[in-house]
Order: sequence, then structure tokens, then C-alpha cells
Amino acid sequence: MTTLYIVATPIGNLSDTTERAKQTLASVDAILCEDTRVTSKLLSVFGIQRTLVAYHQHSDDHDVKKIVAMLAEGKSLALVTDAGTPGISDPGGRLVEAVVRELGDSVAIVPIPGACAAIAALSVSGFPTDAFAFLGFPPHKKGRQTFFRNLVEMQGTVVFYESTHRIEKCLDELNANVPARRLVVCRELTKMHETVYRGTAAEVTERLKSTSIRGEFVVVLAPL
Ligand code: SAM
Repeated sequence: MTTLYIVATPIGNLSDTTERAKQTLASVDAILCEDTRVTSKLLSVFGIQRTLVAYHQHSDDHDVKKIVAMLAEGKSLALVTDAGTPGISDPGGRLVEAVVRELGDSVAIVPIPGACAAIAALSVSGFPTDAFAFLGFPPHKKGRQTFFRNLVEMQGTVVFYESTHRIEKCLDELNANVPARRLVVCRELTKMHETVYRGTAAEVTERLKSTSIRGEFVVVLAPL
């Protein structure tokens, strides 16, 4: 059966590439990539040469149709993003939805699991994870205030992503809305400057400023 593999790649440390991810990427007819330059670098580390096809947030219906046509012709494909598990706060989910809609059960959609920044952050948070809410990225502008105001009512563990450009602002907003709530902020997980900050928003802000506010971030909030 034709297969679309959803392949997780590392979130920083290349040693987190699984054997199964390497075997899959080496065996498919083509790899759909968020950024072909990023994926080329990863593949070259493992000596894998494959046809690369761009699939990213600006891909339109026409691009999706071409990918669906490749699968309909019987080509096996792998979908990767720049880092982590495709479909988790990136455009991967849109492609899977289109393939299910257009081709139904004639295509197998197979996960090749691995790194995911949200799950890595939860695993070191020390907060209850039997249930949690994952909120993706806070909106940049419209809806941002509401996003942070809604956290006041959320009883359980909450995890979300934030970009380096907005992490300070994010901590100010957390301080304004949930000042007493314990946080774990994970910076640059699995990379050289990996740092895990624990405390209230005000405490984390102080520590972050004394180290660096650069990098990639996951924010985890303790339950009420
Ligand atoms: N699909 C990815 C996953 O499975 O984690 C997430 C993609 S999302 C577009 C990228 C965001 O994930 C970054 O802005 C950051 O918030 C978070 N992230 C990715 N890698 C990270 C890392 N090494 N350390 C901390 N956060 C990371």
C-alpha cells in the first residue's frame, strides 16, 4: 500500500534521530520538507540522498494537489518539518487532513515518532501530566490578551510554545494574569545552551535576563 510517513526529526541534538526515522527517510521516493536546506543538512549527516519537495506554511492547494497526485501514483513519501514532530504547531496537520480527505484508506499514514518540544518540556516539568492542555503558540496580536486572560481559569497543567521575539512580553503577560502560578520555561532543549527555569513569571524573567533571552522556548504552567 502507498504510504505517507510522518517522521519526527530532532529538536536540536542530531543524536535524537531514531533508527527508524533514518531507515524511513532513506527508503521513500521523496521527502516533503518545511525547508529543504534544513533537511538537506540533516540528511547529509546520515549520508541519505533523496528527492526533496518543499511543503511549508505557504504551500497552497495546488501544492497539496501535486502531493496527493504523487501518492495516488503509488509514490511513498515522508513528511518532515525543521524540527520535532510534524503536525504539532506546524502545517503538517493540514497535509494529513487533505490526504485523508482525498485518498481515504487507499494510503497508509504511518507515524515515525520521536522528539517533540512540548512533550520534552512536560517530561522535565515535574507537574502532573496525566492530563494537560497544549495551546500551541499564543496569537501575536489579535486574541493575545484573551489567550493570557483565559489562563486564569485553566485548572490543569498547560503547555505552549513562544518565540524568542516575544518571550519577555509573554512573561510580563503571565506576571500580569497569573503572578503566583509556578512555571517551567525550557530554553533550547537538547542543545548546547539548554536551560530549564523554574519559578513564578517574575522569578523566571529575572533569571532569563541574567542568562539569555535568545533561543527557542516552551512554557509550562503548573495546575491551580
Ligand atoms: N513540531 C515541533 C515539535 O514537535 O516540537 C514544533 C514546531 S513549532 C513551529 C516550533 C516551536 O517549538 C519553537 O518556536 C519553540 O517554541 C518550540 N521548540 C522547538 N524546538 C525547541 C527546543 N529545542 N527547545 C525549546 N523549544 C523548542
